[in-house]
Amino acid sequence: MTSEAEDAVIVQIGRGPTGTALARQLLPGLPAGTRYVVVDRDPAATRLPFGTPEPTHLINTRAAKSSLNLADPDEFQRWLTDQAAAAGQPVAEFPARALFGRYVRDMFDQAVQDATAAGVVLDVVVDEAIRVAVGDTRRWRVECASGRVLAADRVAICVGMLPQSDRFPDLVGVPGYFADPWELPALPDDARVAVLGTRLTAIDTALTLAARGHTGPVLLASRSGRLPRLRGPETTAPIPHVEQCMQRAVDAGMLRLVDFGRALMADIAAASTEPPDWSEVRDCGPTTRAMLEHELAGLDGGIERGWQQVVNGASPMLLPAWQLLVEQDRTEFFAEWLTPLLVHGAPIPPETARRVLAAMGAGRLRVFGGLHAVERVDHGFAIHLDGTTEFADVVINATGAGTDIAALRTQPVLAGLLDDGLLTAHPHGGVRIEVSTFEPLDAFGAPVRGIYVVGDLVRGAVLVTNDVIALSFQAALVATAMRANDEAGVHIS
Ligand SMILES: Cc1cc2nc3c(=O)[nH]c(=O)nc-3n(C[C@H](O)[C@H](O)[C@H](O)COP(=O)(O)OP(=O)(O)OC[C@H]3O[C@@H](n4cnc5c(N)ncnc54)[C@H](O)[C@@H]3O)c2cc1C
Repeated sequence: MTSEAEDAVIVQIGRGPTGTALARQLLPGLPAGTRYVVVDRDPAATRLPFGTPEPTHLINTRAAKSSLNLADPDEFQRWLTDQAAAAGQPVAEFPARALFGRYVRDMFDQAVQDATAAGVVLDVVVDEAIRVAVGDTRRWRVECASGRVLAADRVAICVGMLPQSDRFPDLVGVPGYFADPWELPALPDDARVAVLGTRLTAIDTALTLAARGHTGPVLLASRSGRLPRLRGPETTAPIPHVEQCMQRAVDAGMLRLVDFGRALMADIAAASTEPPDWSEVRDCGPTTRAMLEHELAGLDGGIERGWQQVVNGASPMLLPAWQLLVEQDRTEFFAEWLTPLLVHGAPIPPETARRVLAAMGAGRLRVFGGLHAVERVDHGFAIHLDGTTEFADVVINATGAGTDIAALRTQPVLAGLLDDGLLTAHPHGGVRIEVSTFEPLDAFGAPVRGIYVVGDLVRGAVLVTNDVIALSFQAALVATAMRANDEAGVHIS
């Protein structure tokens, strides 16, 4: 192990979509000779959503809406068109996610090439950052698993979504229980499989099993039992009520959830050709085959849905709305409305729904709500649901990312910062930050100078962190804050 610190101006941890967007913001403005080090333990993202080799795992955001470059919204679409032309294939509206991963890596490599040509000294290191701490010379000391040590003025933490600390600790290590859906071993074809979760990761897991020719019954189960809605056209509807509500909130310096909800409902009602069925938002129970078929038939028939047009139109309002919302309403939102937001705000492509329906139609896939416990029993597992119990030979935890303190502690680099009081857990997930600069808040509530946190780790503070447009926007804000701090001479104190 070497402890000699290598000198750098900026160390960036993570080069997924968020880290790539940040590097592309920062690198072009750096003077020649600046040393910028990017550390990533798994640059090919083999265990992440955009590293999946499974061709049925599609991007959930349309290609035309997935540019990593805010200044060039068509960038991904153009990249995809070039790739498709070279391969002699048609351009998919929702291509395989592995292709998006390749685009991200291409954009990163291009940014590195351009910066190197401009004289920036760039090191791209495959390693895990395991500790960030104050160094001896009032600079940040970044320690990597290999023993490499870096001394930096600024550290950008872009480590992406965190695994859940296991919600089923009694099952960890039990044969037949798999905590990581991205690393599924071969399973007996006829095994009864219970997938815990009903959102994007769980759907991917079901599609992986289907692609492998799994013949045994698969069930998806969660508390709500709701699958994501289907992504329709990207059209928007006018949102006058939401705009007026936001203007009043800005004037008053605060927003109430009930007012925002009423404004949203008024705009949805105005955009809908028939009176909306509000029970669909929260109280319609688990997603059934009939519900999916109905939604798909509507989309195939070109029927516009007012709610989606309003969600499309209002999505830029979510960041300012979240900042203005009073604290007690944020708590209520997380308790009552997060699932409806994710169900409606992170929809799946129609093609994915067709595959899910095919598996349901063949009797191989069922969806359950009311999941409250999973228990090890003789020769398998009992899945306890409200009013019924199902049995499975295999359980796969696909409940998605974690953001609570236990999830933060799964990453050594974050655990160390928490122990040192330099990061503090946000009550609604991730870490507390100064929202204007993305610097974390320490145990005394003061911004930690020289550290910047971006991505899903700031979910509690900014709410929307699960699509590349929102993440690219965050990256632009962080780059602006870093430059402003630099010009003002703000450094680690
Ligand atoms: C199933 C699923 C499907 C999704 N589909 C879409 C979609 O279609 N469109 C969309 O916009 N969003 C989608 N998302 C959200 C998606 O995860 C994010 O948009 C995107 O991956 C976030 O990028 P990121 O760079 O913040 O994180 P990540 O992609 O997770 O990248 C983080 C990087 O940091 C590295 N890293 C982590 N810790 C360390 C460490 N300590 N040291 C060194 N390196 C480290 C990792 O190796 C990784 O390369 C999906 C999410 C899921 C779960």
